[in-house]
Amino acid sequence: MIGKSSSNSGIGFSYDGKILIKSDEYEDGKLTVCENFNGFNFDINVLKDKIKAPVDFVELGHWKSCFLKCLYCNEDKVDDLSLVNHFDIFPVIEELFDKKYITKDTKIIFECGDATLHPEFDKLMYYFINTEMKDITIKTSAQRYCHSIAEAIDKKIVKVIVSFDCGCPYIYERVKGYNKFDIAVSVIKKYIQYDDRKKKRVILNYTIINGVNDNQKEIFDWFMFSRGLGIKKLSLDIENKWFEQLNGNIPDYLKELLIFTKDLSGLNNYDIEFTPKLDDIYNKIKSR
Ligand code: SF4
Repeated sequence: MIGKSSSNSGIGFSYDGKILIKSDEYEDGKLTVCENFNGFNFDINVLKDKIKAPVDFVELGHWKSCFLKCLYCNEDKVDDLSLVNHFDIFPVIEELFDKKYITKDTKIIFECGDATLHPEFDKLMYYFINTEMKDITIKTSAQRYCHSIAEAIDKKIVKVIVSFDCGCPYIYERVKGYNKFDIAVSVIKKYIQYDDRKKKRVILNYTIINGVNDNQKEIFDWFMFSRGLGIKKLSLDIENKWFEQLNGNIPDYLKELLIFTKDLSGLNNYDIEFTPKLDDIYNKIKSR
């Protein structure tokens, strides 16, 4: 959870009790220092020595449950979230807000597992809407429609990044482990209705997976599918384990796939965001 954001200081919460801190005020200014607290006994006063100013970001995740079983998922999931002891995160967030550790400018990021499964998700979202937070990111499988998300889209304060990875039901089932393509499509369609005409608040993410969707046909289908839905913003990632195994030896067909994807987005006037590691590869290819 810590270290995924580009901001400098933040607090990460896992619903099963872990609280982590990232601040550039520790360890000679390094950005990666974190401390574990057990959320069940959390005393807000311990933060006083750790965080001197309002944090840049708060990350919320439970790591424990999702509607899907993606081939590349790293989360340590259980089938029944009710079996996981979770601490009541809402009063902690409220107190952090009251003490001004969190302000309207703090970036809120829901990730790790599907956040919408947590019983306090809607309550948290309405709290963030009512306190006029400006920048919320939700990573979701779009298997459950939440009106709180739709309202946040309408208020232009949220980005919803949907894990999709394909342009057809066949590959969807192969990647996600379930035949739930139609559910995702119907949820996405509802969210898009609340997006303004730029259509950039609902983002379809594509994680390139070795031997499954690492080809131009699937990328093309993903573009066409997104266009059919009216989506204008996409993001591209690569599965972590595979990327690590490659150890910098990126095969030519993968490099060509990145160029193909960028060209396709340019032709179709799409805004496509590569994750930093893909951006890095792409920039190296282009600079040759
Ligand atoms: S949508 Fe995300 S959390 Fe859910 S199984 Fe896929 S990768 Fe894991």
